Amino acid sequence: MLEKITGSCLCGAVQYIVNGAIKAVANCHCNVCQKTTGGVFGTIAVIGENDLEVIAGQDNLTTYQVSEKAIKYFCRTCGTPIFNLHKRYPGNYMTQVGSFDDPSLVTPAINIFCENMMPWVKSIADLKCFEREPIK
Ligand SMILES: [Zn+2]
Ligand SMILES: [Zn+2]
Repeated sequence: MLEKITGSCLCGAVQYIVNGAIKAVANCHCNVCQKTTGGVFGTIAVIGENDLEVIAGQDNLTTYQVSEKAIKYFCRTCGTPIFNLHKRYPGNYMTQVGSFDDPSLVTPAINIFCENMMPWVKSIADLKCFEREPIK
């Protein structure tokens, strides 16, 4: 029995719950995900539209037409990206795993749009790691 996945934006206005199975999880390195997340890749969980329920802050979910095919949904107060709708994947929310309250509940299985992947991404685990900030 998997733990119930919940999600929210940074300010907490938008909250959602996942009622069904996650169909897929991928790291997308495309230029659009770089821009829409502000990171160098997006980690996306594919969730059927009937399986993701926005339980608070529906009015706070604002959209931006990213391209002819894609719409970004984000919190109008704090800017957290929540999910995208994409015409190539009708009926699904391409949900930002970083908006999960516990992103460790899923693990990406593939990388896509690797033509745009930053070359250093493959070796980030090899960098010196600090539990928090390095303190001198
Ligand atoms: Zn917010
Ligand atoms: Zn992408």
